[in-house]
Amino acid sequence: MSEVPSDSERISALQTRRVAFYEEVSRRIDLMGTNSGILMDTTYNEIVEFINAIKECATNDERRQIMRDNAARNPYRLLEKYDLIVNSDSTRILIFKQRGGSALDSCQIVVKFSSIFDVVRQIHEVEAGNDHPKSKTLHKRVSAKYGKSIPRWICELFPDFCSICVRSRHRSKPKAGHQPILTRGMNVRVQLDIIDYQSMPDGPFKYVLDYQDHGTKLCQLRPLAHKSQVAVAQALVEIFCIFGPPSILQVDNGREFSHAASKSRRVPIDEEVLFVMLRLLF
Ligand SMILES: [Zn+2]
Repeated sequence: MSEVPSDSERISALQTRRVAFYEEVSRRIDLMGTNSGILMDTTYNEIVEFINAIKECATNDERRQIMRDNAARNPYRLLEKYDLIVNSDSTRILIFKQRGGSALDSCQIVVKFSSIFDVVRQIHEVEAGNDHPKSKTLHKRVSAKYGKSIPRWICELFPDFCSICVRSRHRSKPKAGHQPILTRGMNVRVQLDIIDYQSMPDGPFKYVLDYQDHGTKLCQLRPLAHKSQVAVAQALVEIFCIFGPPSILQVDNGREFSHAASKSRRVPIDEEVLFVMLRLLF
């Protein structure tokens, strides 16, 4: 039974996730520059201050002065794009400017860099039945609430930092029924077997070595007097000298195959071995 993590363990795991996520996001922002689509905290605060000042100014002269002071920031575009809501507890929330007639509860909130993790996590893990939506659905839900302030690449990245999503992604689905092995070409996979004819021997031969190419189904048969490792190896060398050795030689766990192929018995094929092999054949 797995132990349930304590509250402090859960908080520290969340903190580790948050740090790893922001490291990766910062790395990507550095690469993308101004194309990242993310509003950094300082810029966010400057926009909030600017719009607040415009809203609070009493005269047109005052307003013109503020616009002049912020000329470098393209003030008309900012006023066109953003708006400010002041809550009853006087906290200020930056939103995307709504078209006239839209309900206030349908507004899209602007998210700054430091809030991205909590906002996306809320939608990914807490809201909507804790169903861990993947990039496409996550982006759809996020952009419905926060508009373009959270770009698509953030939603594609976020599931990589969720342990539940990572775990479920690596689980391979079990396949029902028999799964045939598909082989293309000759000498890719060869099946080797020995058929026992001890009940009806032909002279000294009591076994037949069945060597079948899995791709082409070409079958080679060799009579064997014994089911020994030497006899099998000799028959195989003979076949390999005609067709070449296969990439995969598939056998059962019979002693005549497995013991002979053990590591301690492996011999590199040099001139001496070739000479012995040829002498065995001819
Ligand atoms: Zn998840």
